[in-house]
Amino acid sequence: MPTESRTFRAPGRVNLIGEHTDYNDGFVMPVAIDLSTWVTVSPLEQRKLQIRSENFDEEIEVDLDDQNLARRGHWSDYPVGVAVMLERDGHRLRGAKLHVRSEVPIGSGLSSSAAIEVATGCALVANSGVKIDARELALLCQKAENEFAGARVGIMDQFVSLFGEEQKALMLDCRSLEFELLPLPDNVRLIICNTMVKHELAASAYNERRAQCEAGVKHLAKFVANVTALRDVTVEQLEQFGRDLPEVVYRRCRHVITENARVLTAARALEQGDLKEFGRLMAESHRSLRDDYEVSSEELDLMVELARKIEGVYGARMTGGGFGGCTVNLVAVEHVAEFSNRVAESYEEVTKLKPEIYICSASNGAEEVPNKTL
Ligand code: ADP
Ligand code: MG
Repeated sequence: MPTESRTFRAPGRVNLIGEHTDYNDGFVMPVAIDLSTWVTVSPLEQRKLQIRSENFDEEIEVDLDDQNLARRGHWSDYPVGVAVMLERDGHRLRGAKLHVRSEVPIGSGLSSSAAIEVATGCALVANSGVKIDARELALLCQKAENEFAGARVGIMDQFVSLFGEEQKALMLDCRSLEFELLPLPDNVRLIICNTMVKHELAASAYNERRAQCEAGVKHLAKFVANVTALRDVTVEQLEQFGRDLPEVVYRRCRHVITENARVLTAARALEQGDLKEFGRLMAESHRSLRDDYEVSSEELDLMVELARKIEGVYGARMTGGGFGGCTVNLVAVEHVAEFSNRVAESYEEVTKLKPEIYICSASNGAEEVPNKTL
């Protein structure tokens, strides 16, 4: 059993293309970004967890043998949830002291939640001498967020936080969990612009979209064999068999089906180093999210429009669930400073809101790091 402390790092992420496709068994293309959460772990004699978050400047303690551990509506739900799911999966954990520190902005859509889950998972597993497959760990972290923290999320965030690679985008098949790492040239940056707006609508609209997708599947499955998700339908099949769908449902389906196709085309574009084509697909994705899926917002549209006018921008689109949050921009490295200044200035002029701007590169997924980097 280890006695010394060890430190694990897990990154946040941004999704380049493939929005609202995850719960339709489709494709997504996130990138692990160079903003991370670190968890330093050291063993405790008793079977308890002492977890301190530097960001929240608070420490909590729970007993691993407490059978009634449950959601408290507190930040600790995320790391405690991971421990609970590991134990429920049959991995007996050793008591641990955990110190959490994050540079991923919290609650901004860059998945600080997956970063803390994955870093905690890696730390607990190492501290307990448990052997677990990274895919399994990703799934347990997702389960912790869904069932313990109570947030309905797909597998993308935890997956890329574990499997991401430097200068690579990760195309993930959300059905099979097969993935491909695709090259991102080193002369571009991913610029993430936070609109600083979050509309209340998001949760109810999300559930409504999911129901509309399900309605589309139910209808289309009557005409096309082996359809269990919109992933299984082509645009041609939608055009042919979707005519009787309510117009709104038709458009929702069209977004998901064309977005899946765009992710696959975008992967080929990256393989060929064709950033212009990749950017064009990002623009189409934004339009489809705005017009067909109707999950954009005035602020997101404005941020994207401002970005498009600037030299060196290959592509710009909203990223994440929508109704506010962030845009992601693929920008030539020599134009990064100009981009940040001009977008920030113009956005503030119109909205009176000061956007947060993060200049990121694709980074490695979770790993152990020397303690001295703390
Ligand atoms: P996002 O993942 O977009 O940052 P979420 O609402 O999904 O936003 O997750 C944010 C929550 O995750 C925080 O409110 C907190 O509960 C938890 N969390 C994330 N990072 C930390 C941290 N460094 N320390 C403690 N809790 C954290
Ligand atoms: Mg999150």
